[in-house]
Amino acid sequence: MEEIRVFCPATIANISCGFDVLGVALDAVGDEMVVRKTKTPGIKITKIIGQNLPLETKKNVAGVAALALLDKSDYTGGFEIEIYKNIKPGSGIGSSAASSTGAVWAINELLGKPFSNLELVQFSMEGERLASGTAHADNVAPALYGGFTLVRSYEPLDIVKINTPKELYATVIHPQIEIKTADSRKILKTNITLQNGIKQWGNVGGLIAGLFTEDYDLIGRSLEDHIVEPIRSILIPGFNEIKTNSIEAGALGCGISGSGPSIFALSKGEATALKVAQAMKNTYQKIGIDYDVHTSKINPIGIKKI
Ligand code: ADP
Repeated sequence: MEEIRVFCPATIANISCGFDVLGVALDAVGDEMVVRKTKTPGIKITKIIGQNLPLETKKNVAGVAALALLDKSDYTGGFEIEIYKNIKPGSGIGSSAASSTGAVWAINELLGKPFSNLELVQFSMEGERLASGTAHADNVAPALYGGFTLVRSYEPLDIVKINTPKELYATVIHPQIEIKTADSRKILKTNITLQNGIKQWGNVGGLIAGLFTEDYDLIGRSLEDHIVEPIRSILIPGFNEIKTNSIEAGALGCGISGSGPSIFALSKGEATALKVAQAMKNTYQKIGIDYDVHTSKINPIGIKKI
């Protein structure tokens, strides 16, 4: 195979209680990339459609992740990358993760799959380091593994794939303001109280148990964040109204997607997820904020060839 076209899904990181460790892949939103082998060594980004992002290899997360892979490979040729961007950068649904994982997954396919998924996560994390200053894996892991993932440990890196309940849908609303991941990390405190820790790990355990046993009520009860949401939600206009109205419309729970400003809700069944989307839209229309809204089934397989 000389060339491949891939779908790179948007992802929701943190999922309320799992800051930096939990994430989930979406089905209905994502970028596309075309990657082809070249005789010239190295990585060249030849085209970016949809967003104004750097073509320079070392300034684009796709280039940086691809170079991290090439560094560990004995392949002597190079690759050309085209990026068709649908996920707005800085929206909080893993725009950078879609590009870095798309690049390394596609290259791995073209090379005959010499690297494991775990190694691809490590290469992609170099892209995340460029985007936000921190090599976090909570967006790149679900993009590569599909479904829900848990980063059980960063050192050594240990990723656990979690079951996806069949009727689970996500609704995501993106108010048209930009919050850079790097900025929304800066405002967080570096210490937590034991009291909040107890609540938080109770919820992480509850969410994982709920996902495996497909207990939707338990999933809903566990979508609580006592550590990050109280601080970050201040940056998101209308956050509390969106949350209250989504839950009233039937959502199991609602929180900040990644570092925001997108807000996500999980629902049982598509009909409820669409009602939640309407409630979210109504809220922003009332406040007078422009938005994009997406309703999506959970994507159980992650990145794929198209
Ligand atoms: P998100 O959470 O949506 O990924 P981030 O703020 O983490 O948003 O990342 C976006 C940052 O990464 C922006 O500064 C953007 O310029 C930079 N970036 C570099 N290459 C890419 C790319 N291929 N796709 C998206 N963002 C990129």
